[in-house]
Amino acid sequence: MRIVIKIGTSNITYKTGNLNIRHVENMCRVFSDIKNSGHELIIVSSGAIGMGVGKLSLKKRPDDIAGKQAAASVGQCELMYTYDKLFGEYNHTVGQILLTADDVKDEKRVNNFKNTIERLLEFGAIPIINENDTIAVDEITIGDNDTLSAIVASHIDADLLILMSDIDGLYTKNPKKYADAKKIDLIEEITDEVMALADGKGTELSTGGMATKLKAAKIVTEAGCDMVIINGEKIYELYDLLEGKNIGTRFTGKK
Ligand code: GLU
Repeated sequence: MRIVIKIGTSNITYKTGNLNIRHVENMCRVFSDIKNSGHELIIVSSGAIGMGVGKLSLKKRPDDIAGKQAAASVGQCELMYTYDKLFGEYNHTVGQILLTADDVKDEKRVNNFKNTIERLLEFGAIPIINENDTIAVDEITIGDNDTLSAIVASHIDADLLILMSDIDGLYTKNPKKYADAKKIDLIEEITDEVMALADGKGTELSTGGMATKLKAAKIVTEAGCDMVIINGEKIYELYDLLEGKNIGTRFTGKK
């Protein structure tokens, strides 16, 4: 299978912006193993701004654009250094691709990044994609990596998009607020009722929440690709998911 995996800032850093070593090491180990078993992997990773905050020892995520861009500039290096080091331990090679909203709208540029991804996969490398936060300003951003990963997955004929969250999937209510919230296993159609289930944003350092994940589900399922929301903290469940077990919340792509 061709699998796009989106990693959120909260999957790889603590609230301080410092690296969550245990999570990142476990993730890279499991992803390497999945790649070894024959799947093609494309990663969309957030964390540039968050890791920049950590690396620069800032007290919080900057509010101004230039501050965010400077943090992203530092953090993107740190992010790729981390992936290069950890995937390298399992003999995998990574390649960085940074995209802007203009790149995903323009047919010629879409073709260029598709060709690069295809060639990286042919070379056996793992493409690691993020938005180019250092030059994207508010009016021209894609804005969140749930959407970016959905756009990428739909352009490269992916079979599955996996969005890693900090909860087990989509719930009937916000599980952090309501004890009787129930996880939804399968969504075959994204109705207005489903869209209304999104409640709140992600963590302080990240951008996405359930709303952006549902928007992503609309984009990929239209393109015929399945999407699953899983809990990044239970990374070993990825094996179960790929064995067809009922993990997270699955959105079925239109066939
Ligand atoms: N591109 C942003 C970063 O790397 C993250 C966007 C998001 O959290 O979705 O910090």
